[in-house]
Amino acid sequence: MKFEYTDYHKKISNEDLIDNLKITAQKLNTSSLSMKEYDENGQYSSSAVTRRFGTWNKALALANLEYRNKTFSNIELFENIEKVWIQIGKQPTRRNMDNTLISSISSGAYLRRFGRWSTALKLFVAFVNEQGTDFAYDCKIESNHKTKREINLRMRFKVMQRDNFKCCACGTSPAKDSSVELHVDHIIPWSKGGETTLDNLQTLCSKCNLGKSNLI
Ligand SMILES: [Zn+2]
Repeated sequence: MKFEYTDYHKKISNEDLIDNLKITAQKLNTSSLSMKEYDENGQYSSSAVTRRFGTWNKALALANLEYRNKTFSNIELFENIEKVWIQIGKQPTRRNMDNTLISSISSGAYLRRFGRWSTALKLFVAFVNEQGTDFAYDCKIESNHKTKREINLRMRFKVMQRDNFKCCACGTSPAKDSSVELHVDHIIPWSKGGETTLDNLQTLCSKCNLGKSNLI
């Protein structure tokens, strides 16, 4: 009797992998397939497929499936990171990005654009910390204000970062209680002449924010 070692992974042929992509897409009745969909419904893993074919889109092409046609702009990708970061009150992980309850763009889109999740995070942080465009003065629209009422992504994130993603009034944070929702609020209300500047902005939870607007 002769014992031989068999590498299980090598037994899966390219054809098997591609066929399984097709079968999985058929099963889901879709002309394309995301890595997440495949991981949940396919026989192998999306990482095994990308290891074999280099990229997910190459494998899709071989299986005659359509590329994911939705490409997001960097701003859309960053806005979604910001949304998730604020919602959980801390730096999101790849897993957080695949949680469709809090993230509208999956980690795969970030990996396709930036290669690694850590690169996406670094670029996001560099983006929000970039100087220069925070104080978008626009005198045409608001003649009695120096700044716009709207709080842009950079400023919103900077305020929350400064306040450690906690409510300035009651100290609650989504990192401790996932039901907490944080907002950025004008300390002196815009309607009373308050400007959209870092020192006139604060982080409040939705409950405290509501309480404040009832008082005013
Ligand atoms: Zn609060």
